[in-house]
Amino acid sequence: MKINSKKNEKIIHLLLKKYKLEDRTVYIVPDISIWAETHGLKEPSSRLAITPRRSNSNTRDLVIKELIDGNDIPSVISVFHFHPTQTDFKRLNNLPDFFIHLILHEIAHCLGIGNNKGEDYKSDQWALKELDKIDDRVMKEIHLDN
Ligand SMILES: [Zn+2]
Repeated sequence: MKINSKKNEKIIHLLLKKYKLEDRTVYIVPDISIWAETHGLKEPSSRLAITPRRSNSNTRDLVIKELIDGNDIPSVISVFHFHPTQTDFKRLNNLPDFFIHLILHEIAHCLGIGNNKGEDYKSDQWALKELDKIDDRVMKEIHLDN
């Protein structure tokens, strides 16, 4: 299973609006590292999403990988085991939950959560808490590809 971010762009904008971030630009790109390189940023190729700052501004925009592969989930979730807290991230093995959590994680950065060095887990925790509040109707609208 895969998620095509472009086919779910409406949901991404819906989430941004929920947190009053509708002024943010959403870039959906085939490869984060190539996008980052052409914009003068250094990001590891394994990233699924980033929130780079606009030049001369603290405002962060959203850059999301176009195709999120369900097979990538275990490697991303395995990082969570190093969190200094005992949060249970099992729910994220489900692709729609994983996708919304990914967007919420980046929204956390836009809101200034987890931006200090070594505090990225705070964005994950915030995103997990907010994921619980997302309406089932939104979750059902997520478009999945085979
Ligand atoms: Zn992060």
